[in-house]
Amino acid sequence: MELRASPVIQRFVPVVARLIPESLRQKPADLWKAENLVIASVMAILIMPAYGYFYHVLGDDVNTLLCMLATLGSLISLLILRWTQKVAGAREVLLITIYGLLIAMTCRLGGVSAPTVIWLAVCPLIATTAGGLRPALVWSGLTFLAVVVIHIMDIAGSFPKAVVTDMRILTTVSTISFVMTVAVFILVFYQVNSIAIFRLDQALTIIRDLAIRDELTGVFNRRELIRIAEQEKERFERHESPFCLCLIDVDYFKRINDTYGHAAGDQVLKRLAGKIREEIRSTDYFGRYGGEEFLLLLLGSDAAAAASFSDRIREAIEALSFDNMPDIASVTISIGVAQYLSGETIEQALKRADSALYLAKNAGRNRVAVDAG
Ligand code: GH3
Ligand code: MG
Ligand code: MG
Repeated sequence: MELRASPVIQRFVPVVARLIPESLRQKPADLWKAENLVIASVMAILIMPAYGYFYHVLGDDVNTLLCMLATLGSLISLLILRWTQKVAGAREVLLITIYGLLIAMTCRLGGVSAPTVIWLAVCPLIATTAGGLRPALVWSGLTFLAVVVIHIMDIAGSFPKAVVTDMRILTTVSTISFVMTVAVFILVFYQVNSIAIFRLDQALTIIRDLAIRDELTGVFNRRELIRIAEQEKERFERHESPFCLCLIDVDYFKRINDTYGHAAGDQVLKRLAGKIREEIRSTDYFGRYGGEEFLLLLLGSDAAAAASFSDRIREAIEALSFDNMPDIASVTISIGVAQYLSGETIEQALKRADSALYLAKNAGRNRVAVDAG
């Protein structure tokens, strides 16, 4: 699995994540919004003091003060996020702060011609990425309303003359920084999304793995084995490629439990499963059928080949030594083999494998028996 995010962003994201409360990290949808909100707040906290200083240089200290107040508002939005552990309140505080700042500055900078008007576009952008459809619609509406009112007031001549005298340099700096800010925000937003999708992929892989594996032994569980067997049945009907079902049962397993306890019995099951997994080919499927029974699906093998392969496995298990269980010379298994027959169900094939296993048990255990079909 490949993560398509730049190293800078990968380093930046854990910093952002640290600002997000634990409870919001549990749900991907909340985490995604919280991350986008934190990115917007952090960017506002970085940009606004710079603007404040710039206005100071241009001689408008009231705008400097407004920038400082807005920086404070952005900081407060981060604190609200941590305290309330909810995105909505923090997002609205940030948006109201930015919206209020831009409108106040627009009034001071002469109305429609003020370079702050274009910055109002960040409100729907933040509302969308940190909220969703409803906040996006509300803030698009509010932004539209603000622009219309500013135009009407401008036409009516309601705005005083701009306080800043050098409007040209202000417009140039504002426009360039607006384009850069939006570009950076979109880039970071995209990269954070890539990381979010990557995390979901990872979680999905873990969940898928948990769903198909047996907790104790780590081999496939019964549900997955049946699914694979059904799939092989379909393949057989199309290509007539033979496959066998081999039911494996541990001999006298109760004795192990009774002598050394259930935990020791579990360790034996783990060890047996590990050994059988080592022995099989990569094209075969092996898993825990239930209790101390395992199922081996040998693909492309007929009954004779499956019987001789099963016998090899039986020998390999017999050869295992269990040093911590001196009373047990060796652990053995019995195996019942059934080749899948055209037209039958997997349940019927398993029943035949079980009958063969019964024969192997009755014949003295530690052996392989094949159902004749
Ligand atoms: P045989 O199959 O040779 O006839 O004898 P057995 O002693 O193995 O008999 P049986 O199959 O009836 O007993 C299976 C035992 O396996 C009974 C049950 O307590 C034990 N068992 C089933 N699942 C687990 C498990 O997950 N862990 C442990 N430790 N024991 C289990
Ligand atoms: Mg059993
Ligand atoms: Mg048994």
